[in-house]
Amino acid sequence: MRMILASNNAHKAEELRAILSVLGVETLTMRESGFSSDPEENGTTFAENAYIKAKSLFDLAGCAVIADDSGLAVDALGGAPGVYSARYAGEDADDAKNNEKLLRELENIADPRRTAAFVSSICCILPDGRVLRAEGRCPGIILRRAAGDGGFGYDPLFYVPEYGKTFAEMSSAEKNSVSHRARALREFSRIFTEEMRKEK
Ligand code: IMP
Repeated sequence: MRMILASNNAHKAEELRAILSVLGVETLTMRESGFSSDPEENGTTFAENAYIKAKSLFDLAGCAVIADDSGLAVDALGGAPGVYSARYAGEDADDAKNNEKLLRELENIADPRRTAAFVSSICCILPDGRVLRAEGRCPGIILRRAAGDGGFGYDPLFYVPEYGKTFAEMSSAEKNSVSHRARALREFSRIFTEEMRKEK
């Protein structure tokens, strides 16, 4: 089966491709497939936004599609930045500005309360319209200053106690084994395999 990924994010494409190829699924980015879809992500949850992205592309392409929506949920901020993770510091935000804002917001928060989780929600629509969903979380702690220069987004501030490192200090193989997206993809693999078995 071929699936089009409702994103042009190279990081996501690489992670999805690695896992889905094991299931015999070939993943194409929108660019590779010649489709272009950029719907307004106005959902209030990661799952809603993943569905919005998947459905918009499915309506155009009419074949199997997969979308991921992800972000950081900080407990002391009531789950923020959440679905606003990419544009936390405003519409022209970049990773540096978002990280600065996060540090400012958490300035007066004591260490034990700096808990957070990265969340990834995956939505796949099969050619017959069946919708498959999966979610993965990776718990961690927001540091007071950045550490490491790998990864992207909030990675330098996100410390994973079981590894003793931030996401930005991990190799991509390490990050890909514990990340929210890897966990969501593992869950998706399970659901997808089950669904394919039902068809036989
Ligand atoms: P999306 O492309 O709409 O899913 O937005 C995801 C946003 O959440 C990104 O722009 C990052 O700010 C943040 N994010 C999601 N996953 C990660 C990650 O693995 N590391 C760091 N930041 C992430």
